[in-house]
Amino acid sequence: MNMNVDKKVNEIRAVLKTVDDPELPAVSVLDLGMVNDVQIENQHVYVKMVPTFAGCPALDLIERDVKLAVEEVEWVENCDVRFTFDVPWSTDAITENGKEQLKKHGISPPPEDYHPGDEWTVNCPYCNSDYTSMENVFGPTACRSILYCSACRNPFEAMKPVVSVTKS
Ligand SMILES: [Zn+2]
Repeated sequence: MNMNVDKKVNEIRAVLKTVDDPELPAVSVLDLGMVNDVQIENQHVYVKMVPTFAGCPALDLIERDVKLAVEEVEWVENCDVRFTFDVPWSTDAITENGKEQLKKHGISPPPEDYHPGDEWTVNCPYCNSDYTSMENVFGPTACRSILYCSACRNPFEAMKPVVSVTKS
């Protein structure tokens, strides 16, 4: 058992790339920018995570899924998942791959470099038109809205932008 720590961390990160956010199928917790730190001590793995939208009550599920997936790794004896509220999560933390996955599933990714109070234009994930209108601000979950594209006539969902409080 002489695998070095970096290699182990990479292995764990690769596993985390397979764990989806239950609220956003096909987007991994890693691509959502939720993984803050991975620490390894012999056969014990500590995963520090940043919760996304405060309104999404899926943290217990995510914790369980991450634990189960990491403990599948041969050399891992146990995995501790902890959520930290010290680090603010923002939609800017979503990776390019994560944004592509969202679009593929008909969810428009949040705008980049959004500042609170800015007009929020949403491009249709199907045809990229910005000729869209808000149908239901509340959407199926607190983090998404339902919109309607006037160009290709498809309804779609959009993730609301979340910015960290330090940004103004
Ligand atoms: Zn469209």
